Amino acid sequence: MESISSPAGDVLPEDEPAGGPTFLDRLFDHGLLVRTGVDGLYGRSGGFESVVDALDRMITRLGAAEGAEVLRFPPAMSRSAFERSGYLKGFPNLAGTVHSFCGDARGHAEILACLEAGTDWTGQQEATDVVLTPAACYPVYPVAAARGALPAAGRLFDLQSYCFRREPSLEPTRMQLFRMREYVRMGSPEQVLAFRESWLERGTAMMRDLGLPLAIDAANDPFFGRAGRMLANNQRAQGLKFELNVPVNSVDKPTACLSFNYHQDHFGSTWDLHQADGTVAHTACVGFGLERITLALLRHHGLDLAAWPEAVRAELWG
Ligand code: ATP
Ligand code: ZN
Ligand code: MG
Repeated sequence: MESISSPAGDVLPEDEPAGGPTFLDRLFDHGLLVRTGVDGLYGRSGGFESVVDALDRMITRLGAAEGAEVLRFPPAMSRSAFERSGYLKGFPNLAGTVHSFCGDARGHAEILACLEAGTDWTGQQEATDVVLTPAACYPVYPVAAARGALPAAGRLFDLQSYCFRREPSLEPTRMQLFRMREYVRMGSPEQVLAFRESWLERGTAMMRDLGLPLAIDAANDPFFGRAGRMLANNQRAQGLKFELNVPVNSVDKPTACLSFNYHQDHFGSTWDLHQADGTVAHTACVGFGLERITLALLRHHGLDLAAWPEAVRAELWG
């Protein structure tokens, strides 16, 4: 990754005065985000969505030349695919499962009685065959594997999904439900690493064109528990994950707006996905956090979209 320099990513337009309204407060006050009473679960205004839509189109333009196959899934996946994916090994604390009432009339009466009494009514909820999608690329691996071995050129997918992660926070950039746009490459190690390298460059150019200060840094996923610490160290040491960070909430802890992940043969072995020559496929993905990039723009260019720099508006809306 030596080709990517790390320009100064250490500026914020103004510090939040201690005790004053936070960035999240200001987003609520301007109506850009709408409170639901749950941290990390927000409605969004038309203006906010106009930025998300423009970013989505910009990402499409950046990837247009490669002819990625577009697939869209609902923000949920099959529980059995989720179990096989290995997500619960790494991130049991972030997973969201869909449970439903499967009882009879007596069970229903109990629910109503609990509600009336203000006690826990969820005791009869049972796990369904549906779980919430944790990352936009998760549903695509079994779909690709079901088609048989990859063609010699490998495959490239274009995905977007709402993703769920149980990580409530007062930082507006850490939501429980957010949209992730992804390109996913499957093929040989050379093919998928070349893909990741080219997106490191394209993603950096895109964010610079949007007038955002940024830095590319090695990163790791928040693997759970003590064993997870080793996995995280390993991921960093092997250069498997990079993030494009922009200061949004603070300069000290900048926010990952894009991520560039090399999974080696993890998903290939998990899903029996093979290259044309029969060896296990390697995969990589680039993920764009659509709300996070929008929030970075709002933080740096202000909460009034009409007052954003003309060059930034032109990039987004032509
Ligand atoms: P972080 O280290 O900040 O938790 P992450 O490593 O979990 O980020 P990825 O799993 O790589 O992020 O997800 C891809 C992209 O999705 C991120 O680059 C980010 O832009 C976005 N994203 C991740 N988690 C959230 C969240 N809780 N709320 C909003 N966007 C998110
Ligand atoms: Zn992915
Ligand atoms: Mg995370």
